[in-house]
Amino acid sequence: MNVPFLDLTSQHEPIRQEMERAIAKVLDDSSFVLGPGVSGFEDAFARYTGRRFCVGVNSGTSALHLALVASGVGPGDEVITTPHTWISTTWAISYCGATPVFVDTDPATGNLDPAAVEQAVTSRTRALLPVDLYGNPADHVSLQRVAESHGITLIDDAAQAQGARLHGAVIGSFGSMACFSFYPGKNLGAMGEAGAVVTNDEDVAQRLRRLRDHAQDGRHHHTEIGFNYRMDGIQGAVLEVKLARLDLWNDQRREAAARYADLLGSIDGVGTPAPTHGAEPNWHLYAVRVPEREKVADGLKHHGVASGFHYPTPVHLQPVYRDLGYAEGSLPRAEAYAAECLSLPMFPDITPAQQEHVADSLRTVVEALQ
Ligand SMILES: *Cc1c(COP(=O)(O)O)cnc(C)c1O
Repeated sequence: MNVPFLDLTSQHEPIRQEMERAIAKVLDDSSFVLGPGVSGFEDAFARYTGRRFCVGVNSGTSALHLALVASGVGPGDEVITTPHTWISTTWAISYCGATPVFVDTDPATGNLDPAAVEQAVTSRTRALLPVDLYGNPADHVSLQRVAESHGITLIDDAAQAQGARLHGAVIGSFGSMACFSFYPGKNLGAMGEAGAVVTNDEDVAQRLRRLRDHAQDGRHHHTEIGFNYRMDGIQGAVLEVKLARLDLWNDQRREAAARYADLLGSIDGVGTPAPTHGAEPNWHLYAVRVPEREKVADGLKHHGVASGFHYPTPVHLQPVYRDLGYAEGSLPRAEAYAAECLSLPMFPDITPAQQEHVADSLRTVVEALQ
């Protein structure tokens, strides 16, 4: 049996005609950039996240960049973030000319550790940028407390966490802004690149709308440096169709995660993921921890099971950030996590038989290594 890492074809099959009609409408209207396809999705996603405003952009990376620009982050500022993430989180800080300050992660969840954040705050700290890793919410309650006590802006990199919840509140509702990616492999994925920022602040929302569209303040009138970060009409139209299924898909992933926990819990040497206290993750990724994970991944491949590393090298040790001076061993918990994480196949339509094959294969491979 072959188990793919992600299967988008089966997920799209039941809504294919609906998506085709939404795309045809964009074609009929020639509304290829922004337009009704995008504004319809923005309204729906603002409602979904319980925010007053949603601003659609052309990627999650752009969403993060614009959120930091709109928060006034610039050269000389520090932004505290997690080293255990996809590198876009940090790109956004670097694009602003600010300095990423990496702090260590919670040993159980791999998310930013609020106590470590507290210790890293300086007079230059302008913002906190946590990530909801694998769709498991960061500890936003504690992080918000740190941010408020120091007068710092909290922006959530919620790129992986569409539809996840913390203490009953949907992700997107935490922080002054939350940033989403709709890259095709995310739980809510476009037919190409897309992203969004949500906020309750009307002035910020208006500025984000200007910034994504060459900072036009009225047509052909530019008062600051802008960007071409507009969302395509087709992406908005498709995302609105798919948003109506997001909760169903996330519930299917939750069932699959519970099944994995049952199947894998008894395997010696395999650590199953731990949700944050009060969290309902959306299980964007299901990452276990195993020693010798390269060998385990190779072994799984021989059994027809795909897997991945998210992320093999923590960002503070990437060559691009060598000048920041973080040595190996400087953030030991994040480094240990990065060395052991192994993401297993996870998607809404994964079958119990596929999951049993993953679990049996993992048991065989891990036991052979002991
Ligand atoms: C996917 C992702 C992004 C970037 O999104 P793109 O749409 O690919 O630009 C940012 N942060 C995290 C944590 C992500 O997983």
